[in-house]
Amino acid sequence: MNAEIISIGTELLLGQILNTNAQYLSKSLASIGINVYYRTEVGDNQKRLKSVFETALKRSDLIITTGGLGPTEDDLTKETIADVLGLELEEDFEALQSIKNYFEKIKVKMTNNNKKQALIPKGSIALPNRQGTAPGVLIEKNNKTVFMLPGPPNEMMAMYKEHVEPYLIKRGQGIIKSKVLKFIGIGESSLEEKIKDLLRSDNPTLAPLAGRGEVSLRITAKGTEAKKVEEKISNMEKLIRARVGKYVYGVDDETLEECVGKILVDKNQTISIAESCTGGLIADKLTNVPGISKVFDRCIVTYSNKSKIEELGVPPEILNSFGAVSKETATAMAEGIRKVSGSKLGLAVTGIAGPSGATPDKPVGLVYVALSTPENTICKNYVFNGRREIIKNRAALTALNMLRKYLINLP
Ligand code: AMP
Ligand code: MG
Repeated sequence: MNAEIISIGTELLLGQILNTNAQYLSKSLASIGINVYYRTEVGDNQKRLKSVFETALKRSDLIITTGGLGPTEDDLTKETIADVLGLELEEDFEALQSIKNYFEKIKVKMTNNNKKQALIPKGSIALPNRQGTAPGVLIEKNNKTVFMLPGPPNEMMAMYKEHVEPYLIKRGQGIIKSKVLKFIGIGESSLEEKIKDLLRSDNPTLAPLAGRGEVSLRITAKGTEAKKVEEKISNMEKLIRARVGKYVYGVDDETLEECVGKILVDKNQTISIAESCTGGLIADKLTNVPGISKVFDRCIVTYSNKSKIEELGVPPEILNSFGAVSKETATAMAEGIRKVSGSKLGLAVTGIAGPSGATPDKPVGLVYVALSTPENTICKNYVFNGRREIIKNRAALTALNMLRKYLINLP
């Protein structure tokens, strides 16, 4: 089955909004193995929409439109598509009922033009909209499937998940399952290099996804029996872990901070943090983890030299001789926060987030991460690329990863 997406709305063509709906649909369809061959954006204009839709009908089995289902004059998706398919519009009882209920619920008087939203092409199915008023529409005709979804992204995504995806999976070859492996400490290109041959596999497929400072790999398998599909995924996972398992910190929706937080709590290791260039980002991430208060004592953002001296007891001579961004300062910060707090572990970060602040021997993106433990203090330096926020995020993730590796005895 090949699919085509039509995004309707003059505001898209004027550049007033970004077409996030098409991106979401492309990504979601790809994840269930449906090829999207064309995407079109068209304004709220009946003649041009008609021509775009006619073209789509000739070349695609599945057409998904977004936008133009609203109550106003310029919303004419249903009218136009019904016209091309030679279908009359008729009032759908349940759709009208649910629009009435929606207005009752939000205590707003329903206007007459809202009734227009309950009109759907004869023989089609109205898809309930739990986030708004405009129902979606499903039409099956002459071996073509057409979904019309609303424009507001929250309504569109909810409707896709609830009605479109299950329909497509059922109509497809059977079962599709995915598992995401999450990596830290390895870049996208070196990961791809190490599993190049596996990336060519077609069932399961492998899709590398690069996020903010992290890399993930989605394994997706298809089949008719759940057990066999799961087996395909777990065999592939074993192959991947055998090569790059030391960089895998979690699976699916797990975040690095959740993973680290869980180990800290399980092992009852208390921690305090001293942050310079990350400005509290490590603490921000760590405090996303429920229950972290059992082990997380404090974070001090020591941005100035003065605060490093006052709050952490970093010797002024170290700052003077080696500078604030140095192995010596990072080490003293980690040891200092550990001492001040009485926590078992002290984590510290200092670096140059840019764009200014570089010197001939200290480039933008240079970051020192130090971890002080009851045994010793480890310090490592990194050079990260990217904008200021990206460097900060990479530094925070790297610090959390250093902590994770120490906690599970990885070198
Ligand atoms: P509509 O149903 O066409 O009136 O769309 C309602 C609202 O949804 C628009 O004003 C946009 O804010 C949003 N919207 C419509 N189409 C898209 C799209 N393709 N991507 C993101 N947002 C959209
Ligand atoms: Mg519109």
